[in-house]
Amino acid sequence: MKIDANKADLTCTLEDYAHREFRSDEFWRVIPAWKDVTLAEFSDHMWQMKHSIKKVEQVKTVLGELCTDKFYLDMLEGQKITPMNIRITPYVFALIDWSNPDADPLRKQFLPIGSQFLPDHPYYKADSLHEDVDSPVPTITHRYHDKVLFLPTTICPVYCSYCTRSRLIGGSTESVEKETYGVNSGKMDVAFDYIRSHPQIEDVVISGGDAFMLTAKQLTFIGENLLNIPHIKRLRFATKGIAIYPQKITSDHEWFQALCDVHKKGREMGKSVVVHTHFSSPKEVTIFSKMACDRFFQAGIIVRNQAVLQEGVNDNINDMILLIRQMGQMNVQPYYVYIHDMVPGCEHFRTTIAESVAIEKAVRGMTAGFNTPTFVCDAPGGGGKRHIASYEYYDEENGISVWTAPNVKPGEVFFYFDPIRKLSKEAQDRWAKPEMREKMIAEARKKAGF
Ligand SMILES: *Cc1c(COP(=O)(O)O)cnc(C)c1O
Ligand code: SF4
Repeated sequence: MKIDANKADLTCTLEDYAHREFRSDEFWRVIPAWKDVTLAEFSDHMWQMKHSIKKVEQVKTVLGELCTDKFYLDMLEGQKITPMNIRITPYVFALIDWSNPDADPLRKQFLPIGSQFLPDHPYYKADSLHEDVDSPVPTITHRYHDKVLFLPTTICPVYCSYCTRSRLIGGSTESVEKETYGVNSGKMDVAFDYIRSHPQIEDVVISGGDAFMLTAKQLTFIGENLLNIPHIKRLRFATKGIAIYPQKITSDHEWFQALCDVHKKGREMGKSVVVHTHFSSPKEVTIFSKMACDRFFQAGIIVRNQAVLQEGVNDNINDMILLIRQMGQMNVQPYYVYIHDMVPGCEHFRTTIAESVAIEKAVRGMTAGFNTPTFVCDAPGGGGKRHIASYEYYDEENGISVWTAPNVKPGEVFFYFDPIRKLSKEAQDRWAKPEMREKMIAEARKKAGF
């Protein structure tokens, strides 16, 4: 797909009330292994965890005759390339359209197949955002003045095959060795000490990995330690869980209570404790999501959403608008839509800056401004998040955008590169020659005035 912001029809053709309908059938019963699973069982977080799929062979066992040999072999090929292990809850697995898995946006996100992969861009990097470079102590990335990223765990209930931290998250695969696995309990004091000794820090993003994988005790421990640091004003627990494992919220009462207690303690201290989640496709939204989000809303805990713009998942206007309206309907605030990071094994997912600008243009004005996400590019090399249209210069022909980040890394220049497959034949030929690449980049930099 190539959207030209100035020529394409950017109107939404969605039915006005599509976002008010939440899927509520017993959709999992089409999966042969789960045809007799009751609503009560399916709603139980323990059942979901226990029946999560962690191996390609399990996909075949659970699907039975729904799994074609062609698809199975394609998944085996995918395992040789992907930087991420498989881990998927029955909830997400059953939402995949198994009559055409190749095209399904959920299959694309969580079950990589060999035939989808493209060669990585010449300037991709495992640590594209320089999170390790900007890390003063283990588990902390300190890039912005008053906020830090804290990564206490390297596991998640579902692994996204496009994870921006694939170098760290989810254990080693056939193609990538990873050092740690699980919750880094021993390293937390170092992180707290760092935050305590830097009074400019007011805001901590507790991510990973996924905060869903912290036990209730660990969540309380982290929350209380951080709230007790006088200069900390804002905590955000980041979890994709609400999107892919909502049963945790509706049935793991101990965990949810621990979060509510941290939230309450924060409120009493005049500090905010919120949750950031990660819905990317309207297909992830069902009555289970609605029930989970209602629980947050009733507890007074703000939930915000961060999506990633991905080809074949949400890179069209109707899906993006539907997703945003669904978030509003569930009282979740759409916060960011990221253009895809330039990390390994993700070239097939990436879109161009021009496409994302076109989608942002079509979305803005659809609903409340405070429910309209900001489309951002997290500048490769650690420039941080920049509004998608705020590049200094954009050579659309060669797919090179030039960025600066005056508040984050004054004086530095950053580049984002559009996927080569979306460029003209002539531009693709130029990219094939390393000396031409350097020349094009130098030229873009000069045109930008640096
Ligand atoms: C995204 C991010 C944050 C939080 O940034 P916001 O724009 O406030 O959401 C903080 N630290 C790092 C390193 C990040 O990547
Ligand atoms: S939930 Fe987040 S950290 Fe976990 S695999 Fe997905 S993108 Fe990576």
